[in-house]
Amino acid sequence: MLFASVILTLLWLFQIVFLQSYYQNMRSKVVLESAAKIVSSYGKDEFFDTLELVTRQDDLSIFIINSENNLTYSIDQWDIREKILPFSSVVQYRMEMINSPNRAIYNKVQEHTYTKNGKPTVNETLLFGTYIGSATDIKAMIFVYASLDPIGSTVDILRSQLYQITFIVLLLAFVISFFISWQISRPITKITKSARQLAQGDYNIAFEGGGYGEVDELSKTLNFAASEISKVDSMHRDLIASVSHDLRTPLTMIKAYAEMIRDISGEDRNRRDEHIGVIIDEADRLGVLVGDILDMSRIDSGRININPAPYEISSRLIELMQRYDALIENDGYSFDISIEPNLTINADSVRIEQVMLNLINNAVTYTGDDGRIFVRLYKDENRVRFEVRDTGDGISAEAIPFIWDKFYKVNTSHKRAVVGTGLGLYIVKNTLEMHGFKYGVDSTEGKGSTFWFEATV
Ligand code: ADP
Repeated sequence: MLFASVILTLLWLFQIVFLQSYYQNMRSKVVLESAAKIVSSYGKDEFFDTLELVTRQDDLSIFIINSENNLTYSIDQWDIREKILPFSSVVQYRMEMINSPNRAIYNKVQEHTYTKNGKPTVNETLLFGTYIGSATDIKAMIFVYASLDPIGSTVDILRSQLYQITFIVLLLAFVISFFISWQISRPITKITKSARQLAQGDYNIAFEGGGYGEVDELSKTLNFAASEISKVDSMHRDLIASVSHDLRTPLTMIKAYAEMIRDISGEDRNRRDEHIGVIIDEADRLGVLVGDILDMSRIDSGRININPAPYEISSRLIELMQRYDALIENDGYSFDISIEPNLTINADSVRIEQVMLNLINNAVTYTGDDGRIFVRLYKDENRVRFEVRDTGDGISAEAIPFIWDKFYKVNTSHKRAVVGTGLGLYIVKNTLEMHGFKYGVDSTEGKGSTFWFEATV
């Protein structure tokens, strides 16, 4: 509205207030130029042509008066000679011209007249006169006359048009500004309402955009934020649920076996040792679980750092594989191990061992009934590749992108009681990424999976 008002004010100023003086300046210039043309063509063949031309072009009247003060030629557009150039005036103008340093008179005359319907008006006219010859021997006097009259009616027309334009523009400005602010503020008000709901923990609200690209963008971003917050929130719930569940199982076992030792097997050395063994195992599991959760929270808060150093992976892996001897002897697992000797990579020894154990443990957990697990370590060009393959159910293509997420567990009714937090691969992924190693999984459903990582050397 303000902008429209400023433009209209400018329009009014220029069209109405300044138009008169602007037009008059222009007319005086025309009069002076025409007079100069006439004077310079005086006495030449084209003199009368020039007179015709300038009068027609610029709407002027021209009078040429001889040395005896008689009219010899005129183009009198408005029959005004009697009025503006009576004999007495000619004599007077002649004197003024002779006395003027620039040999000319220039008059702006105001005439007070009445229009047809009786309104008083002021007509302004311009009269320019000069002479040809010398002051003592005047050959001719030339008067050029211009009326400034048409300007009055033009201003009237403009003014009445401007009234209409002003009205239309202000109305339009009002309607448009109202419409735009309504269009913008309505969706923003809605978004604000939804944001309030979001703040109160309602993650299912949808932010609606509307009309404007930016508002749409904002609502999309807020929808995304809401879904992220809701994910984090449900992750928190999952965390608490799965942590308390995972903690409760070993704790129940520990309590049960401790009671058993107290009540039953306390005196029986063999059975007591067996029960104590279970307690120790469960405590270990608790330890691993708590360790994983600590690792996860360190990864999430960015407080984890790795210290890579030359690490002789071949012999360390051979040592690590000895931990599985008991599984082979007691539980019918069989390991196919192929380790190229003397390979050294640059890695954080503690972290990379955790990664390898994690992948092997998963293979043990998820391998098929034949209990076979393949572990390979070899060098290929400038890469050292670690691979562990199992013969289990494999992972569906849809699930593969998610197995690296925290707390992700594929929902299968697995034959073996699978215990896991869904944190293992999340830690593996983050550790390998911190090392800058490539990693991945190739899996065929029903055939098994191969988890691998590669270190460049
Ligand atoms: P978990 O503690 O549940 O094993 P992980 O993060 O190690 O957690 O693994 C996430 C999920 O990926 C597992 O629940 C399992 O469904 C799937 N997965 C991991 N390794 C294998 C494997 N070798 N074969 C089949 N599925 C696997």
